[in-house]
Amino acid sequence: MPESAVSGIDVSVPPSGTGCAECEAAGGWWFHLRRCAQCGHIGCCDSSPSRHARAHATEAGHPVARSFEPGETWFWNFATERPVDGPDLAPPQHHPLDQPAPGPRGRVPADWRAHLH
Ligand SMILES: [Zn+2]
Ligand SMILES: [Zn+2]
Repeated sequence: MPESAVSGIDVSVPPSGTGCAECEAAGGWWFHLRRCAQCGHIGCCDSSPSRHARAHATEAGHPVARSFEPGETWFWNFATERPVDGPDLAPPQHHPLDQPAPGPRGRVPADWRAHLH
């Protein structure tokens, strides 16, 4: 399947980092991570306090995201609210295995479960 067959996915772009870009900038924390399939932006999931992956999809107009969790390869389209199929993206496929979820280490409150959506 040619790469251009999948709208909103660019397999050549590496992830922006190992943690949510906005949470890292603001000193926040996340539950799980999602990767924008178009520009590589790493954001936090809908269960996380700040839901930055969804905000990025809306603001940037990049609807397709892939899980950035180890062992997860699914894609989600925030515009249609439907799962979509997609190829492996530029490595790494997930955050480092020694990075905890929720994360990052040292910034997660003890009562983190009470803050999930
Ligand atoms: Zn975030
Ligand atoms: Zn993006």
